[in-house]
Amino acid sequence: MRDDMTGTDRFTREREEMVEFQVRARGVRDERVLAAMRKVPRHLFVPKGFERAAYEDRPLPIGEGQTISQPYIVAVMTEQLELQPEDRVLEVGTGSGYQAALLAELAGSVISIERLASLADQAHKNLARAGVTGVQVVVGDGTEGYSPEAPYDAIIVTAASPGIPQPLIDQLAEGGRLIAPVGPRECQDLIKLVKRKGRVESIPLGGVCFVPLIGQFGWRGEDSS
Ligand code: SAM
Repeated sequence: MRDDMTGTDRFTREREEMVEFQVRARGVRDERVLAAMRKVPRHLFVPKGFERAAYEDRPLPIGEGQTISQPYIVAVMTEQLELQPEDRVLEVGTGSGYQAALLAELAGSVISIERLASLADQAHKNLARAGVTGVQVVVGDGTEGYSPEAPYDAIIVTAASPGIPQPLIDQLAEGGRLIAPVGPRECQDLIKLVKRKGRVESIPLGGVCFVPLIGQFGWRGEDSS
């Protein structure tokens, strides 16, 4: 969409403002993360009719009762993964595919697991439309991880569970980082785990509110509490 006043692409301008005022101004300073957020066209990852809200400071609905997360929270979680260009990354909770697209900008390979086939299908389309390569979307229960490609240098869980699923800890490489929202159904603590010499160090990063992680090692059903 063109901006009549300046000729600048409206979405490009909104994306730059999002990075400056919602992300950098709140303390995210990793230049690789900021560059990736400037590059990935978030408006291609929201449902039709929501494009104009794509760069607002909030999560948005993506169908099936799920959400694309607030840009600032995406930025914090991505920065805390401390990604290197050759890293192998696992994402649990593909949703729209936006987070996976950012991970693909920053790491070597990305496996992203989504429980709901309809969202995985849409994410696949969104990633293709945005020209993102290097993401493998898998339909399944991400609380079990994805053992065929393990271990992972980084694991990001973008839905909340009462504890960190043990298979994910097992599939984290030595020196690996894992970020997950952990706690009650409504709002949780963002937790970072770092695996060193086979042991995990746990670092709390602050409060967040995520949709539930539903599966064998998460919440056990839609209506469990
Ligand atoms: N990262 C996403 C993005 O960039 O749009 C947002 C993820 S949304 C907040 C959480 C997602 O986790 C939902 O799409 C939900 O269906 C998914 N989910 C919940 N439980 C899951 C599980 N056990 N395995 C995989 N995905 C799961």
